[in-house]
Amino acid sequence: MEITGHTRLACLIGSPVAHSISPMMHNEAFRLLDLDAVYLCFDTKDKDLGTMIRALRDMNVLGFNVTMPDKERVMEYLDEISPAAQMIGAVNTVKNENGRLIGYNTDGEGYLRSLEDVGYDVTSGDMCLLGAGGAASSIAIQAALSGVPVLHILNRKNGRSYPNAMRLADQINAGTGCHADVVDLNDAEAVCSCIKTSTLLTNATSVGMAPHTDAVPLTDLSCLHPGLTVSDIIYNPRRTRLLIEAEKIGCRTGNGLYMLLYQGAAAFHIWTGQDMPIEPIRAKYFC
Ligand code: NAP
Repeated sequence: MEITGHTRLACLIGSPVAHSISPMMHNEAFRLLDLDAVYLCFDTKDKDLGTMIRALRDMNVLGFNVTMPDKERVMEYLDEISPAAQMIGAVNTVKNENGRLIGYNTDGEGYLRSLEDVGYDVTSGDMCLLGAGGAASSIAIQAALSGVPVLHILNRKNGRSYPNAMRLADQINAGTGCHADVVDLNDAEAVCSCIKTSTLLTNATSVGMAPHTDAVPLTDLSCLHPGLTVSDIIYNPRRTRLLIEAEKIGCRTGNGLYMLLYQGAAAFHIWTGQDMPIEPIRAKYFC
């Protein structure tokens, strides 16, 4: 790929960013589609966010991704925010449209597309979502907008994100056809009764992520049943203990690797109007 005087820039901002797989994924897609663009990472400290965004606007970038901890704060610097990102309260993708910066959130969309890979239709049954942090918010809103009939948000009542769980449920009940409620994750009996009547259980907490790979986000695993698809958005390790236990019971399972791929593919489409060539990128970076 040759850098020319016309080469457009796309990038990732936030901190830390050096570990990200996004440069590999997007640069490979630009190369495969012969697009004159390049994707870089810029470690951006909190205090520099405004300066960075002004610079990106002045440089007429194609667009950029935003990661922790700036997904919420970036919204104050944008000209427009998509309705879904507005409901989620966070932006992970920004498109530059002739100097206007438009914010989107592709995490939930990426997650729902990854469910299609395991053969799960979100409209087919009720959903239990573990967690109410950043990733859980995008999944909850996108799932509700995509036709999940009932959504149980399971979060610790004494946890930091419990108020966000309540906000999400209120927004979903007011703005979509989905019925949402919030259940205390420490109430094992209530959690079990939600899981028993659901067909999808999604772990969007950080419980089970390396290095704490022995941890499971549920105290009682006896309510898992073979009719349940169990999905963990963690991708390190590839198989969390929750997924291992669910497989023993005969549940269909999926990890977070393809959510990562598809949220990137959705951002790529927003910037270029083209479909990311998924298969070669999956084979090269996601196996
Ligand atoms: P976050 O905003 O910090 O949210 C973390 C969530 O986990 C909160 O709801 C928190 O609840 C819950 N939690 C933490 N420790 C817990 C515990 N011991 N018991 C019960 N709940 C607990 O983080 P995030 O950005 O949403 O990320 C969450 C996970 O998703 C991470 O593992 C991250 O790597 C992964 N992720 C994957 C993708 C992907 O593309 N696959 C994308 C984004 C994130 P409390 O309020 O009760 O603490």
